[in-house]
Amino acid sequence: MNFEDIQAVKNLLSEPQKIVIIPHKNPDGDAIGSTLALWHYLKYRGHEATVIVPNDYPKFLKWMSGNDQILNFERENSQAKSKIEAATLIFTLDFNHLGRIGQMEEPLGKLTVPFVMIDHHQEPSDYAEIMYSDVTMSSTCEMVYNFIEYLGDAESITPEMASCLYTGIMTDTGSFKFSSTTAKTHRVAAQLIEKGAESTEIHHRVFDTNTPGRLHLLGTALNNMVILKDYQTAYITLSQEELDAHKYQKGDTEGFVNYGLTLEGIIFAVIFIENREEGIIKISFRSVGDFSVNEFARRHFEGGGHTNAAGGKSNTSLTETATHFESLLEDYAVELARPSI
Ligand code: 5GP
Ligand code: MN
Repeated sequence: MNFEDIQAVKNLLSEPQKIVIIPHKNPDGDAIGSTLALWHYLKYRGHEATVIVPNDYPKFLKWMSGNDQILNFERENSQAKSKIEAATLIFTLDFNHLGRIGQMEEPLGKLTVPFVMIDHHQEPSDYAEIMYSDVTMSSTCEMVYNFIEYLGDAESITPEMASCLYTGIMTDTGSFKFSSTTAKTHRVAAQLIEKGAESTEIHHRVFDTNTPGRLHLLGTALNNMVILKDYQTAYITLSQEELDAHKYQKGDTEGFVNYGLTLEGIIFAVIFIENREEGIIKISFRSVGDFSVNEFARRHFEGGGHTNAAGGKSNTSLTETATHFESLLEDYAVELARPSI
């Protein structure tokens, strides 16, 4: 964050504000962790603050402090709308353009109050007066830690805030494994542990909450995996019937896509998940090395994200989507033939 932006934020926060904090649709650990940590901080600074999520999120994220104060735009629509209309300042966290918040885009588009963006996705659009956008960051949680530090308030980070921030860093780095994990990321994580984040407990709460149904669904996903050795690619499909048969709940497929990358020689992994209610196939892309799934998702599947982790969607059937995906790979034959790391 540059000096002028820090001063501008300090000015905005020098008077009591009515603040709404918003993460992207289908919020993940980084989105919930960063918004809740910022919520605690802004309340500590004497502001009225509310986190409003566009829609629901997995149960394994619902233990964080402040979770019961979050408004769900789909479920608590009128309450959420009044908060947005009354807001004097908006923080948008962990997304790069307003299309990522679904139905919330409409009421937000009408506002004339200042927006502050804190985000690490590529190609941010310029809707915010103050943009703290840095694609080299491991997570928005690492950035919220920096943000609080820039404002001279690192001492105000409580064990509750530290746990929220640690959660998002841990989930967005694949437990400190992805290439976005820097020495600085580890230093921030260490500071958070010193401030009271219980790393073992957090790991347990997020990752050790499987139901038998979820493990069986994973079995189905792994059985469905298609390996395209020539393109160092592996993809998984899950149909609505398969999800229903295992009593699918939100979050159950989290992390499934990564199994493709655990195969020796695979550098591009994809999962296609049918969502009959929305009439789409939701897609997650992962890669290792310099094959940009952000560009691939942007070009072919109305999506985006980061170089090694991105998402997108398709409006055709599951089979058609998979067939279309396979037909695209020929154009990437050179990139997908490179050695993995
Ligand atoms: P995931 O596959 O875990 O849902 O998302 C991986 C990354 O891609 C995340 O950083 C997420 O924010 C981003 N992403 C997921 N879906 C979409 C999408 O439909 N559009 C864009 N622009 N980014 C997405
Ligand atoms: Mn993130």
